[in-house]
Amino acid sequence: MNTDKPRHYFSNNEVREEIVQLDNNFFRITYFWGLKPNTLVFTGDEGIMIIDPGQRPMAGRLISAINRICSGKIFYLVNTHPHGDHISGNGEFSREIPVIWHDSLDDFTIKGITKLKNRPFPSCRHFNLFYTMIFNNADIWFIPFPGIHSGKDIMVYFPSWNIIHMGDLLLTQSFPAIGYKVQDYIKFLGILQETFPSRTKFIGGHGHELDMNGLQEYEAMLKNTVEEVRKEMKTCKNLEELQRRDILKEWGIYGEYIGFLTKDYWIESIFRSI
Ligand SMILES: [Zn+2]
Repeated sequence: MNTDKPRHYFSNNEVREEIVQLDNNFFRITYFWGLKPNTLVFTGDEGIMIIDPGQRPMAGRLISAINRICSGKIFYLVNTHPHGDHISGNGEFSREIPVIWHDSLDDFTIKGITKLKNRPFPSCRHFNLFYTMIFNNADIWFIPFPGIHSGKDIMVYFPSWNIIHMGDLLLTQSFPAIGYKVQDYIKFLGILQETFPSRTKFIGGHGHELDMNGLQEYEAMLKNTVEEVRKEMKTCKNLEELQRRDILKEWGIYGEYIGFLTKDYWIESIFRSI
């Protein structure tokens, strides 16, 4: 999503800041402003890695929050995909800090990133490439999966902790923002469940984190919405009429977290996928 507001729109410190410690070395930081993207902070003996610095107007507060909760130097910024709500914060950090993102994974000037030759999971046939680096004595995997949300999506996985930042490949409190057919996206959620260990913690680009049960519930919710639209389409083939009838009322809460991912948007996505 790419609707960052200009910087001068923001002028106070009253925006709610949520800091969630996910494990000894991991924090999720969210500012409830604009599109509320999730920043993941990984800290350790060598220093700090920030995945998705978020919206530029919040970057100053993000940096002071990180200074408060972590010690050490910021070594890397990672961008899950090139949309302003996730990456415009980059500009507030030193230009000396390397930015790891989709297009730079093959760039060997970024120290230490290599392609994993052997597939790390027995059931990961759907993922073609895993890139890896070691930082803070831990493996970090960058897994490209372009095309669902943007042309340049990567997931960032920490196998030692089973923590993964999904970027906008997963929005846990809203309908998904996808260019795919809805059914193909639901298959993607199945692939995640098949590939990652059952104790995995999924950090979405927006919304609270999910465990495997939560991911299954989210998938079930999407399947139910598809079924509802399919059922209604047996008697009505008119999109506007389906939207007027408010057929996804039961799942309305998922149409409220991010302004433009409304129930009507989701009815249309399903309508065009069937
Ligand atoms: Zn986003």
